[in-house]
Amino acid sequence: MFNALVTDIKNENIKSEYGPIKVYERSFSTSGNTKVVLVKIDSQKFLVAVGNDELYTELQGFENIGFKLAFPTHENRLVLNKFFPYTAPVANVEHRTSVGLGDRLGLATPGHIETLRDTDVFPIFAQQSVRELDMTGRTYEDVIDTAAYAVFQEGYKKGYGADGDHLKTKEDISKELAIGATMITLDSSEKIDNTIITLSKDEVASKYKSLDESIKSYYEGKYLDKNIGIDGLQMTINKEALMNDVLVYHAAIDFIEEVYQEIIVKYERPIDFEISIDETSTPTTATSHYIIASELKDRNIVISTMAPRFIGEFQKGIDYIGDLDEFRKDFKNHVAIANHFGYRISVHSGSDKFSIFPIVAEETNGRFHIKTAGTNWLEAVTVIAENNPALYREIHQHALDKFDAATKFYHVSTNLGNVPDLSTVADKDLPSYMKNNDGRQLLHITYGYILQDKDEKGNYILRDKFFNALEEHSDAYREHLVSHIGNHLRLLKLK
Ligand SMILES: [Zn+2]
Repeated sequence: MFNALVTDIKNENIKSEYGPIKVYERSFSTSGNTKVVLVKIDSQKFLVAVGNDELYTELQGFENIGFKLAFPTHENRLVLNKFFPYTAPVANVEHRTSVGLGDRLGLATPGHIETLRDTDVFPIFAQQSVRELDMTGRTYEDVIDTAAYAVFQEGYKKGYGADGDHLKTKEDISKELAIGATMITLDSSEKIDNTIITLSKDEVASKYKSLDESIKSYYEGKYLDKNIGIDGLQMTINKEALMNDVLVYHAAIDFIEEVYQEIIVKYERPIDFEISIDETSTPTTATSHYIIASELKDRNIVISTMAPRFIGEFQKGIDYIGDLDEFRKDFKNHVAIANHFGYRISVHSGSDKFSIFPIVAEETNGRFHIKTAGTNWLEAVTVIAENNPALYREIHQHALDKFDAATKFYHVSTNLGNVPDLSTVADKDLPSYMKNNDGRQLLHITYGYILQDKDEKGNYILRDKFFNALEEHSDAYREHLVSHIGNHLRLLKLK
């Protein structure tokens, strides 16, 4: 059944369909005398290669008369990367405004590409934290492979990144860099002492007193009673604030320096280095941000982006909770510091934070990084709710069963009392669960259980059904992403 396709590949005149073979026409690529195109038969994708030189030889697959069929394996991904460099992730060396598009299922990137193909956004298509990898049962290799094949499929040549997201150890950082990460988000939360905020003033003072003399004199000499005036932000660092910041952050700053000197600065290729200090219970103050930023600069640490913890609540999958004027004031200070030190502000848990997007766009003059992930998953759940009510009901019930366990991993304020009982909701109204904040959070935080739980025989309860259903409705998923992520980009003034 490949005869006509192979003839047309040779003549560079392919169509989108050959009987049961769906052809991704945008993937058609040539290197030397080898021509390659990505196709799908049933739900399986293959590369079809015609030719006889280097690329043809290096692709691993099954030889037929006049062509080769190659599975989309990790090894073949590396071959594509070698001959078509745009398929490999790269660092954002031009410092374009960037958007992280975590794709937990490995199915969202084609929709993401369609959404931002005509914009100047630098996309991070491969972005998974260790927590997300554990919960989805995927490897970081697979995350990059999936993004790379999607980029090849869609013929997207403007460059994309791979974020080793929220990494906490040097081992994990080195491992993900070796796999191909081009951005490292260092989560130093294990070195940040969050217990300090629970202490009284006297307790803080006595804890500070017991610090090493060299640490105290170092920070006091540099920052105590210092007047700071940068771009609209005036502040003085008093003893109380300094004691707090030194206690909370000094070990984290040393750790950032260690990671940078030992791994990042001498790496064989450029890396976007992001510092995240957002996984804390209290907002990052302007003085804290300033001291961290000055220390990074004085220690010659170059970062691309910094994620403070902003004022208000950034819960998963729902809009910002908090006062917008307060947010603007707080955000402005962080932007002033970032601009002064030459990096971009990064907004984490950025999914669905529609009410603050215009503020983010205005106050940064359009230069920022924002991470989204969970919302791409929720759009997938919406597609199931619209197209496969029986499966949605199973998923919903499973989410309810596992909700309590899931709250260990995610901070949400969900009130399940606001989620209507399944038996009262008609099939056609099931998508309304995804318009209900409590319903969204219920399905958002339980994805690990939905994707990984097995029955007593060791078979997945929902994973295979979920993937099959999405595969069947892949066009609907694409449309949902184009619309929903498109709304993100429009409000962020990126589109
Ligand atoms: Zn974060």
